[in-house]
Amino acid sequence: MWKCPKCGREFSRQHQDHYCVKPQSIDEYIAAQDEAVQPRLQEIRSLIRLAIPDAEERISWSMPTYWKGRNLIHFAASKKHLGLYPGDDAVAHFADELKDFDVSKGTIRLPYETDLPSELIQRIARWCYDSCAAKVQKGFEKCSS
Ligand SMILES: [Zn+2]
Repeated sequence: MWKCPKCGREFSRQHQDHYCVKPQSIDEYIAAQDEAVQPRLQEIRSLIRLAIPDAEERISWSMPTYWKGRNLIHFAASKKHLGLYPGDDAVAHFADELKDFDVSKGTIRLPYETDLPSELIQRIARWCYDSCAAKVQKGFEKCSS
């Protein structure tokens, strides 16, 4: 067992990555990341905000999340890339445009050393938002997928 000297939590793995304090907002989440990646996180945040200004910012599954009746899209910082989590349907829908990216089920990995595909990210966010709104219109109270 390894005990974090800062927060006292115990982990089976030495120097396990974790948040000593669980971030309660996207601001806190970004502030807790490596300084080197913070500008990139701010960048994707403002891209998504501009694309879906109606969605609420919150933390869900320990990740920055955009919410409108349900979780629409998440992002998260990893060591080597920025993860964007729009869900399986969105990744399938944009498969052609994502073929140059490292993509797996519901996840798009955006390397830090290349520019963000801003316009594509905004269209994906918008698509997640619209597909949620469409489900609500069809009579589902919440668009739980
Ligand atoms: Zn800790």
